[in-house]
Amino acid sequence: MSAPSHHGPDGRFLNPWPVAKGDDEIRRQFWRVARTFLLARRPPNPRPSQLPTARPEVAHPTVDGGEVRITWIGHASTLIQLPGLNVLTDPVWSTRCSPFRALGPRRFVPPPLALDELPPIQAVLLSHDHYDHLDRPTIEALHARFGDGLTWLTPLRYAEWLGALGITRVVELDWWEGALLPGGRFRAVAVPARHWSRRKPLGTNQRLWCGWAVVPVEGEVDAALPERADVAPAGVAPDPPRRRPRIWFAGDSGYCPAFAEIGRRLGPFDASLVPIGAYEPRWFMEPSHMNPEEAVRAYRDGGGRGAFVSIHWGTFRLTLEDPLEPPVRVRAAWDEAGLPAPDLHVPRHGETLQVG
Ligand code: ZN
Ligand code: ZN
Repeated sequence: MSAPSHHGPDGRFLNPWPVAKGDDEIRRQFWRVARTFLLARRPPNPRPSQLPTARPEVAHPTVDGGEVRITWIGHASTLIQLPGLNVLTDPVWSTRCSPFRALGPRRFVPPPLALDELPPIQAVLLSHDHYDHLDRPTIEALHARFGDGLTWLTPLRYAEWLGALGITRVVELDWWEGALLPGGRFRAVAVPARHWSRRKPLGTNQRLWCGWAVVPVEGEVDAALPERADVAPAGVAPDPPRRRPRIWFAGDSGYCPAFAEIGRRLGPFDASLVPIGAYEPRWFMEPSHMNPEEAVRAYRDGGGRGAFVSIHWGTFRLTLEDPLEPPVRVRAAWDEAGLPAPDLHVPRHGETLQVG
């Protein structure tokens, strides 16, 4: 059998779509990038009043019934609470996303929930090795608190990096591979994204990158969930049984033909967590990050229903756009597309959304 098309002949990974043909050449234009970033006029950092926070409404220890809660910690870090299961995506609690303590992008808003305020976490979904997604101090703290009670799901070639921190409960998956999540009711599937990876000592694209879909395990019936109807007072009609939710976390990605396939194979999604920031300058960022208009297209490609949850903005300054621009543009793109207003979410840091 031939290797999947995103496995390069030299052992590195690549983006297998015609649209991604020139991506690597663009990223190699070091001097053009350096000049652009050095000469750019940066809009000021947001004032705290421009990024108001919300008090998280986290369920302890987990949600029950058919409820789903998604709490935005900031950037790509979210707490997804499903019946009997708490999952973190790309957890970053550090002040800076950088290999250095005192240098590098500094967060505008502190994490709205301390690590030790988290309910028990059973699984972490990691999308790739960039510092704004793979944060060693946070990972060490989570491992210290939860140990082997926590399963780490990653794309290919992260087990060694995690193993060096003493973490052995690691499930490495290739695109379209899935693994049962703790509790056995949901499966996490690694899905394609148009991105890249690099983290010393490894070079570019030596580790895979991905998004994640969390979907119910086929063949089980909803009756396995705790029955809300059991506690309904006499004479009150019980809630109808709820369908178990499907969630898509898009990771970091440029706009990509794979989104429609993700929707076809694993949707329709009840919530799509889509990055809307880190997109300027376009000539350089387009291969690896969507702008807000593309993020809305991605949602429509993925099935175009359920909650759109805006992530990857308003936390770290990584690129040249005004940090407050992505929400403005995503709202405009949403209206332009004629999508229902209640489905668009631009959460405040710490805000908990109930979906499903
Ligand atoms: Zn990245
Ligand atoms: Zn990122």
